[in-house]
Amino acid sequence: MMDGSLRIRLAALPLGKSRLAGALDFAILDAAGEAEACRVRAACEVDHLGSRIHLRGQVEGEADAHCHRCLEPYRRPVAATFDVTLQRTAAEIEPESDVEFVPDSAVEYDLAPRVQEAVLLEEPLQLVCAPDCRGLCPQCGANLNRDACACALPVDPRWAPLATLRARIDKPA
Ligand SMILES: [Zn+2]
Ligand SMILES: [Zn+2]
Repeated sequence: MMDGSLRIRLAALPLGKSRLAGALDFAILDAAGEAEACRVRAACEVDHLGSRIHLRGQVEGEADAHCHRCLEPYRRPVAATFDVTLQRTAAEIEPESDVEFVPDSAVEYDLAPRVQEAVLLEEPLQLVCAPDCRGLCPQCGANLNRDACACALPVDPRWAPLATLRARIDKPA
């Protein structure tokens, strides 16, 4: 690879084991449908066996996420792994295997879709900017991490008579 991309030049790949590294910028959608811009680096161990190529590696980087509680943007770390097997001759592929056929005539193999897929698989269901994020006030929408809003605690209708009584007691005579 891979000057700013994850394209592997197959013709230049030596037989046996080697290492490649590259970088990739892309966007994925989080569980809430928000786009996250991801910037990752991939380090790949290559095992070139002639008609078969194993690609195993790690992806690390960061994503511009939006907190699902307070909706503020924040950066989250991204980490994933991938394990890809390429087969250069179609005849040897068993139908059920997840081996990917790459014809002999192919000049390069783009690892980017596999890296994006790996990152997407590790996408957390809930994105939270901090474990103690207090989120938004359900009544006025204030960000409770920043603002102490003036809304009362949610009133349970069963306590409403007590609240009225309390207001009466609190009122200076
Ligand atoms: Zn938050
Ligand atoms: Zn409020």
